[in-house]
Amino acid sequence: MAERIEPDLNFVKNIISSGGGSLKKCFQCATCSVVCKLSPDGKPFPRKEMIHAQWGLKNRLMGDPDIWLCHQCSDCTAYCPRGAKPGEVIGAIRNQFIQNYSAFGFLGKMVSSPSYLIILLVIPVLILLGVLFHLGNLDFTAIPRGEEGVIVFYYFMPHIYVIVIYVALVMFAFFSFVVGVVRYWKELLKNRKEVESPPSGSIVGSIVGAVKEILLHKRFKKCGVERGRKISHLLTFYGFIGLAIGTAWATVKKYGFGMMPPFPLSDPMQWLTNASSVALFVGLGMIIFNRLKDKSKAGIGSYFDWFFIVILAVTGVTGMAAQVFRLADMGVSAYTSYFLHLVFIFYLFAYAPFSKFAHMVYRTAAMVFESHTLRKIPLAAQADK
Ligand code: SF4
Ligand code: SF4
Repeated sequence: MAERIEPDLNFVKNIISSGGGSLKKCFQCATCSVVCKLSPDGKPFPRKEMIHAQWGLKNRLMGDPDIWLCHQCSDCTAYCPRGAKPGEVIGAIRNQFIQNYSAFGFLGKMVSSPSYLIILLVIPVLILLGVLFHLGNLDFTAIPRGEEGVIVFYYFMPHIYVIVIYVALVMFAFFSFVVGVVRYWKELLKNRKEVESPPSGSIVGSIVGAVKEILLHKRFKKCGVERGRKISHLLTFYGFIGLAIGTAWATVKKYGFGMMPPFPLSDPMQWLTNASSVALFVGLGMIIFNRLKDKSKAGIGSYFDWFFIVILAVTGVTGMAAQVFRLADMGVSAYTSYFLHLVFIFYLFAYAPFSKFAHMVYRTAAMVFESHTLRKIPLAAQADK
């Protein structure tokens, strides 16, 4: 029996307004699916996503593993003869996915629009200023100092407040992600059942395989147009993880072993955080440079993409500035930088499920599903396995 098509015209409009404005230029030549090295033989992408998006087949796209298996390398965009920018259209579809599937999806809409930027920033500023007011630390010139008069951020914003606020944010983000992944998985299974046999691969083996794939970034190596993407993404990824480990390490030292900050520069934990900061800066610098360099071929990217890059960069810069000003004994500058650093970390954590950060979670889910359903991975992507 022929399938009944139910187009959602609002969905098409939303894709166009989220950075997929070139969608209608596609005339279905399939060049994009041919050049994409990550596209599987059986059900290649992104041509089918382009037609599904043009027809407003929202349900198909919301349960499509390929919208997250696309690594946004832009090879398809560079070779599209119509300038339909399929890589950017898939990015816009992902943005719509986040707004549809996350718990508190309205935040997805806010994070995707520059109109809400100030409101989203004011929330952490007010919360953190409220804590400083409660502590009597609003006067940055009168913060108590540590031994020998050194600046100690602990006296400015005691860790217990940081831990309570940020653990709550992590739990909020975790909850939003769990809701999103469960909804996505159900839709993946539903779409799969309609067209193929049920999944039969090992779920544990699929998860292990996906994590291994992510840690090694094998698929990024296949990018043709933005060749530096693998290294820039790896540096950013491990820089971020290194900083997260450094922060957890400092917390354990303080509360597990009673060691008071600031820790000396010779401390291995400081080596890790400093090396991770450098990796993050170099990785982000490469991402920005490559995007600007390849913009005529690969597209400049949407506000949604740039928003995440800029917030990560500002978080790194304010963290580094806080350390430099602390060592230079410039109290007001050090506390101001540290305050801004906390604001942007809040931003990163609280809005993670609604920003581009979400790709880490949903791409992992799509990879697990791909393996779980024994889907044939393209030969090009298997080459280095
Ligand atoms: S997006 Fe471009 S390359 Fe892909 S099918 Fe459409 S016109 Fe062809
Ligand atoms: S952006 Fe890259 S991975 Fe995504 S569909 Fe295009 S060629 Fe394939």
